[in-house]
Amino acid sequence: MARRLPVFDNHIHLRAEYKGVEAAKLFEKAGGTAIMLTHTPYDEIPIGHGSDYDRAYRKTLAMADAVRSATSLQVFVALAPYPVECMHLKEVVGLEGAVAAMKQGIDLAARYVAQGKAVAIGETGRPHFPVGPELQRACNEVMEYTMAAAKRLGCAVILHTEDPTPETFAEFAAMAERAGLDKNRVVKHHSTPLTRPEDNRGLVPSILAKEELLVEALKGGPRFMLETDYIDDPRRPGAVLGPATVPRKTKAWIERGVLTEDQAWVIHKEMPERTYRIRVE
Ligand SMILES: [Zn+2]
Repeated sequence: MARRLPVFDNHIHLRAEYKGVEAAKLFEKAGGTAIMLTHTPYDEIPIGHGSDYDRAYRKTLAMADAVRSATSLQVFVALAPYPVECMHLKEVVGLEGAVAAMKQGIDLAARYVAQGKAVAIGETGRPHFPVGPELQRACNEVMEYTMAAAKRLGCAVILHTEDPTPETFAEFAAMAERAGLDKNRVVKHHSTPLTRPEDNRGLVPSILAKEELLVEALKGGPRFMLETDYIDDPRRPGAVLGPATVPRKTKAWIERGVLTEDQAWVIHKEMPERTYRIRVE
């Protein structure tokens, strides 16, 4: 009997007060089997100090448990301070205070990784829109701090930044090298389809499940992952792909010959297993 293809969404946010578990069920019903549940800021848990991250992370971890008990999905968790938060923090506690708070947020995330409750530190990095040079430098400092923590823990990092060019990939690769972190363990979430090693310098692109991006990405081979970046926020309908997109599209692409089964196994099983040192069933 042919083995069942695992279907992994590498970046999904769920909120208990919105669709939450229901969105996970839609993913499962469409053929999805595993998700990287990625931490997201919560309005009701404002971050004014680094220690506030703990309450916020526990909300994401509770969501993961809720999905596990309501579905058969494998739920992996990534925790980190969301990079755009640095702007608000800077207003409240100044630039130095913001850096200290974010580093404390990284340390708290590292603790959950060490306990086995999370498998990666992310999404973290810098705002996806231009910010002043001071703030950019501060975010870069936090990014390197994160990579050093991941190196110590032996875990992966998931980066949120502007859409990468070969130059930005080179910049992140240099940071990873300075931190001693294997570039196979640095994921660029919401990546451009730069799958050739000479373009991404060995980092791992995670690409939105859109056909034009998939087709472009496959030209460099299947060394990437797929994601929806589903945000589960009714105030931003249609801002990102729906929760069933990765399984639905994967199935359609295989049927239409856009994606081969072998490529799908690499994208949905080998890449997550290699990147996060997890088992995807
Ligand atoms: Zn995200």
